[in-house]
Amino acid sequence: MLAAEPKTTEATSALLGVYKPAGPVFVGGEGCELIAEDGTRYLDFTSGIAVNALGYGDPDVAAAIQGALAGGVIHTSNLFRTAPAGELASWLTANSFADRVFFCNSGAEANEGAIKFARRWAGPEKREIVAFRGGFHGRTMGALAATDRPAYQEPFAPLMPGVRFAEVGDVAALEARLSWGNTAAVLIEPIQAEGGVRPVPAEFLKAARHLCDLAGALLMVDEVQTGLGRTGWLWAHEASGIRPDVMTLAKPLAGGLPMGAVLVTEAVAGALQPGDHGTTFGGGVMVASAALATCRKIGAPEFMAEVRRKGTLLADLLGALALRNPCVRAVRGAGMMWGIETDGAAGIVGRALDSGLLLCSAGADVVRLLPPLVIGDDELRRGVALLEEAIECC
Ligand code: PLP
Repeated sequence: MLAAEPKTTEATSALLGVYKPAGPVFVGGEGCELIAEDGTRYLDFTSGIAVNALGYGDPDVAAAIQGALAGGVIHTSNLFRTAPAGELASWLTANSFADRVFFCNSGAEANEGAIKFARRWAGPEKREIVAFRGGFHGRTMGALAATDRPAYQEPFAPLMPGVRFAEVGDVAALEARLSWGNTAAVLIEPIQAEGGVRPVPAEFLKAARHLCDLAGALLMVDEVQTGLGRTGWLWAHEASGIRPDVMTLAKPLAGGLPMGAVLVTEAVAGALQPGDHGTTFGGGVMVASAALATCRKIGAPEFMAEVRRKGTLLADLLGALALRNPCVRAVRGAGMMWGIETDGAAGIVGRALDSGLLLCSAGADVVRLLPPLVIGDDELRRGVALLEEAIECC
């Protein structure tokens, strides 16, 4: 049989057209910069959408991956026991409210797991999940049902039934949505990320905790984007002093390899039986080794203190930028996660790319900044200066 003629030579043209990738083809990375095939360096304020918390080429993550490779086992499936997943679960439970961990492969998958665990825990009568206007939880059928984006949902209806929405900040409306007879869980992002980098007030998270207790429902925090140091706290919900029942993680967890996790209390874990849930790849040797190295590094108290210090510097730089640029309507966020509300976010992202700064947006009127957590002070200053040039053009 004759080999098929190659249909294309372009780097991305055979990929399904669900994304609109912009700009150069990247072939390398170093520290907080991505390197294009013509050698141009770009300062990265996206971190691969909050994934590359340790930047590019972190030696500890590389050593962990090489260590797994040297052992010869990348994957075994969950039919067999391996050490890294157990060690990682121990690290996560020792450093959070949780008692047990389920590993999966992405943020959406973690939220699917959380929804299933909540319904299993709640029993056959209590089926409802309460989510929030402006929230984003992923693109799979359950996570999408809890995501407040009609344009993402409508082409794929019917989605998972049983999701009710409430407004962030409206305690009375949340109380009205919850009931002892029907509600299994409340699912909330401590900072709504894709929805425009909108921090949820601590008082509202506390009220949600209280109302969940009254309704016999689980409080589930989606920390897929905010978790593992991004906000200057190891877990963003810690800033409000609440203890959730369930937390979902993904993006930065495995240093750039795909991994998600659902962290639960013993009470939730007790409702799950062997066979209730599963995934072939979850917690594999290589990915768990990379995650352990990532978690140990980010979780070190001196590392987190640095993220907080740099978060204050970034807040100051952005506050000053907003004062000089009246078209900036709001600056909000925490740590290394900020949103700049102004018209024409896509134009700003495009102009910044042309001048060597990678940014992303969160909706039509919010420019989102997600620098690697290891970024230096001078890089923060350089990035904000480039951002300001891109804004001044608007
Ligand atoms: N939850 C939140 C808060 C997210 O920001 C995202 C992705 O942006 C997801 C879930 C979905 O994660 P993934 O893209 O890994 O499925």
